[in-house]
Amino acid sequence: MTDSATVTRFAPSPTGNLHKGHAFAAFQAFHFARETEGRFLLRIEDIDFNRCDPEHTQQILDDLRWLGLDWEEPVRIQSEHLEDYQRAAESLRQQGLLYPCFCTRKEILREIENAGGAPHGSEGPVYPGTCRNLSEEERTEKMTAGADFALRLDLATALDRIGDLPPWFDTEKGEQTTRPELLGDAVIVRKDIGTSYHLAVVHDDGLQGITDIVRGDDLFEATHLHVVLQQLLGLPTPRYHHHALLTDRDGERLAKRNQSITLKSLREQGVTPEDLKKEWPG
Ligand code: GLU
Repeated sequence: MTDSATVTRFAPSPTGNLHKGHAFAAFQAFHFARETEGRFLLRIEDIDFNRCDPEHTQQILDDLRWLGLDWEEPVRIQSEHLEDYQRAAESLRQQGLLYPCFCTRKEILREIENAGGAPHGSEGPVYPGTCRNLSEEERTEKMTAGADFALRLDLATALDRIGDLPPWFDTEKGEQTTRPELLGDAVIVRKDIGTSYHLAVVHDDGLQGITDIVRGDDLFEATHLHVVLQQLLGLPTPRYHHHALLTDRDGERLAKRNQSITLKSLREQGVTPEDLKKEWPG
């Protein structure tokens, strides 16, 4: 194995049981590493303590072993590394790239309605920038009064700082012009958990030297923001393999929230990993 060997990962959030779509993504990443004599890592993305549960983590490990996958130990458990993400956020904040946002979801929606709408990204309407324009005094006043706040990316400042934004490459769709305006001033540090999926995933992919990311199309737009964060944190941009989301027989996309058939229940019904593989797109 050389230094430039492929490193792939599967990075589930233990918010529920894995379904067939996860099996597809995990297997693709595993298989790709095998084919190229690279490495396959597993990472548990459990920073959202409101939604994650250690019981699901155990079930995920069982499901992946049932699928025939193995991975390097130790598995990185994100909740054990919160100070890493806080450090990364602090470095962005000190460079003047983040600003506190005191808005509630309702206030954001009201503001957008008053402005006659806003572009819609994969994470909802793009933030209208209300708190970007607060003065230092207004910020201090709100903080002194104990108001909760998130930290948002000041995208315009970030883009100025970066200069020429590089494109990124998706194996399905080819070279992509990086378009972070799709997500706008995204939340980088959430009020409730002290980090965000975006910051933690970019930090860890960099730390673990991931070269190839296999994940569902639902994260395609987020990749534009991830490239910006990689630039700001001095991290390389991996290659991406965004795959179409699997759907059930009625064309509904598989998701934990719509109770899609889980690997656990399929296994209990006697389905084998080979049966699953027959259903995967070629
Ligand atoms: N943890 C994320 C999820 O389960 C996936 C992260 C990724 O593959 O980038 O949705």
